[in-house]
Amino acid sequence: MTNILLTGGAGYIGSHTYVALVSAGYRPIILDDYSNSHPGVIARLEDITGQPVAHVRGSVLDVAMVSALIEQHAVQAVLHFAGFKAVGESVAEPLKYFDNNITGTVRLMQAMERAGCRALVFSSSATVYGDPAAVPITEAFPLAHTSPYGYSKIACEHIIAAMLAAKPDWHASVLRYFNPVGAHPSGLIGESPQGVPNNLMPYVAQVATGKRAHLNVWGADYPTPDGTGLRDYIHVMDLAEGHVAALDALLQTGRSFTVNLGTGAGHSVLEVVRAFSLACGHAVPYKICERRPGDIAQCYADATLALQLLGWRAQRTLADMCADTWRWQSRNPDGYHEAAIA
Ligand code: NAD
Ligand code: UDP
Repeated sequence: MTNILLTGGAGYIGSHTYVALVSAGYRPIILDDYSNSHPGVIARLEDITGQPVAHVRGSVLDVAMVSALIEQHAVQAVLHFAGFKAVGESVAEPLKYFDNNITGTVRLMQAMERAGCRALVFSSSATVYGDPAAVPITEAFPLAHTSPYGYSKIACEHIIAAMLAAKPDWHASVLRYFNPVGAHPSGLIGESPQGVPNNLMPYVAQVATGKRAHLNVWGADYPTPDGTGLRDYIHVMDLAEGHVAALDALLQTGRSFTVNLGTGAGHSVLEVVRAFSLACGHAVPYKICERRPGDIAQCYADATLALQLLGWRAQRTLADMCADTWRWQSRNPDGYHEAAIA
């Protein structure tokens, strides 16, 4: 059995990747400080996998604790999800983001170096492309930041690249996610944002349950087919399986790589609204509003490299993403903050 440490493993993407790793025969261990997640996810993961979940409460900033954890479990690789991700909050509190995201990554790498574990899978983001000059976006596009959050991801990518150049015994897989949405088909785990969701799919889901009155569509005058923003929505279970493929490649070949994880297709805000209405069986009310400051018109991946390098491609459709989001949202309207599902 290969032991893998999942920092931020109680969060949205980490918890789904936990399930995919167990299915693939890995033994994942979760490290999370629950700063943006709920410990209730652990029991749900036990329900899905039928096995006890190894989990530790703590921060990646704690080098001594993390290196001891890696040694104790003979961890072979670390999947580093832990970090803050709210773009707006990063503009209000940049240092909070630099500390947790950049210092957090450096401290984690210190702990790995100390414990002799030198294989890292890093959660990067399509935000590192800034406002791209064209679509689809290949990995060769120039990097640019439009927020302190985006800067933190570029900084981590540079730190990892410099480490790989200096230390040939290190290996890393940098995964640039496009727009992860959806939930595990069991309806037991999903995205559980605190407060008002910033992202489209969780907002639409809360409108569909009646928790919010209508969706504000931020702009219908973009140079896109229906005027609304176009994004590459990727089912979180496809993304989770992409991590397994990346980890397999990293451990088998020892070669480092940076790759987009997206579907290669863009969907507009109104397409998402229509697909969600079909999934939930009723209309999702919306109002067209002004553009959201800082938004870009379109962003979708060239997903060719992931297929070439990892033999991975996204399988699930927008209808699947909406159906699985709806199952999770309708059964858990308050996320993990409510007791068990009915
Ligand atoms: P999330 O907030 O649901 O999960 C992150 C987890 O990390 C949370 O459980 C949080 O409690 C934990 N955490 C934060 N700081 C920590 C620390 N110092 N020590 C230990 N645990 C800590 O977010 P997510 O959507 O699952 O995202 C995971 C990663 O993927 C993040 O790095 C994020 O920036 C990146 N990413 C996310 C998206 C997206 O749209 N969700 C897109 C691109 C990249
Ligand atoms: N969006 C919207 N209303 C919302 C949230 C998002 O119209 O309440 C739009 C947004 O303008 C963008 C798309 O939905 O065109 C995806 O936004 P999200 O924040 O989910 O992802 P990002 O813009 O960070 O890629």
